[in-house]
Amino acid sequence: MTTNSELFERAKKVIPGGVNSPVRAFGRVGGTPRFIAKGRGPYIYDTQGERYIDHVLSWGPMILGHCHPRVVEAIKAQVEKGMSFGAPTEMEISMAEIICSAFKSIEQIRFVNSGTEATMSAIRLARAYTGRDIIVKFEGCYHGHVDSLLSKAGSGSLTFAIPDTPGVPDGIASTTAVLGYNDIKGFEEFMDIYGQVVAAVIVEPVAGNMGVVPPKKGFLTSLREKTRAHGALLIFDEVITGFRFCFGGAQDIYHITPDITCLGKIIGGGMPVGAFGAKEEIMSLLSPEGPVYQAGTLSGNPVAMAAGLATLEVLKEGMPYKALDTLMGIFAHEVRDAARQKGIALTINRIGAMAALFFSDSPVEDIETVIRSNGKMYARFFHNMLGQGVYLAPSPFEALFISTVHTEDVINRSIEAARNSLAML
Ligand SMILES: *Cc1c(COP(=O)(O)O)cnc(C)c1O
Repeated sequence: MTTNSELFERAKKVIPGGVNSPVRAFGRVGGTPRFIAKGRGPYIYDTQGERYIDHVLSWGPMILGHCHPRVVEAIKAQVEKGMSFGAPTEMEISMAEIICSAFKSIEQIRFVNSGTEATMSAIRLARAYTGRDIIVKFEGCYHGHVDSLLSKAGSGSLTFAIPDTPGVPDGIASTTAVLGYNDIKGFEEFMDIYGQVVAAVIVEPVAGNMGVVPPKKGFLTSLREKTRAHGALLIFDEVITGFRFCFGGAQDIYHITPDITCLGKIIGGGMPVGAFGAKEEIMSLLSPEGPVYQAGTLSGNPVAMAAGLATLEVLKEGMPYKALDTLMGIFAHEVRDAARQKGIALTINRIGAMAALFFSDSPVEDIETVIRSNGKMYARFFHNMLGQGVYLAPSPFEALFISTVHTEDVINRSIEAARNSLAML
């Protein structure tokens, strides 16, 4: 039997860091990444045959669990008919229709291959629509690895950012202003000075890439009002939140209508998909109707559309959101309780079936409080959980998910493992 360590050594020779996306390498928690051989329902199995309750779920897409029969069936049926044509198919229309009907803010949508492509294209569109260059983003919000969106922090909230990574020219980074998530005052002051040159404000309506940080009351409303007042567009990056809390987006829960919405993850049902949508007036700027170029050899790929459509149909028929919320609520409540009993400072942020565990004794509501939480303790907790067959995100800055096939029994086993893991800290 090949071990995880052997595979990791082999991988590191031919793939940088041994992985195709950095967090997978376990860098933040230490140890050897598990190489996954298969997934089934709420479980993943590594190459050594170990089974884990999966709370990463491919970082969110697998809301129906692994190998949902309807999704597998849809993919198989499409594969038999062909995998890619580079010509339009009816399934793309069906996908567009179901998403347009679920999102009031979306009249037209275009499919791409990842969340990164969605935000990249949305920004190009916003700049073309407004004729302006500056993009505002918020610290701790992740919008994929688009050059202009990798900037995180300048010094002071009114500073235009410097690049966060080598390889991004200053000229590109300087078109992005980075402000504090949930800092309403900072945002309003910025817009009062620079609002006239801002093309778009992009935000995760519920931040899901610094753990989970819900928006403070009034934050999203302020974004909506100030962008409208200054003729800038509001982009909701709902790649992680889309179809997560309801059959629609966080925009339905917070009653805010953005100008452009980015989607990904769940709408691909486990296949590589992204999308961005808006009113027809904005979308019609895209080629071939308008002058803004945007394209993709595999965009709207039939197999990806089949997986996504089956996933959305199952969600629409079953409307599992209330059940998911209840189960994750029980998990959060029980784990919080167990930590309290052990005298361990633990803050759990949760909205629906998306949660984050911060080893912190104070509320976590922005990047500073996220970073202040105890990452070393998270790493130990992570390994304690892993040892008991529960797979959490290998980083304290990522969300924890459950799927529709994480039954009460499965959740209870995760809770039991969490109790033990806390006791071992
Ligand atoms: C995952 C994610 C992205 C990037 O999507 P990829 O498919 O990984 O490119 C963008 N925005 C948000 C909010 C995400 O969670």
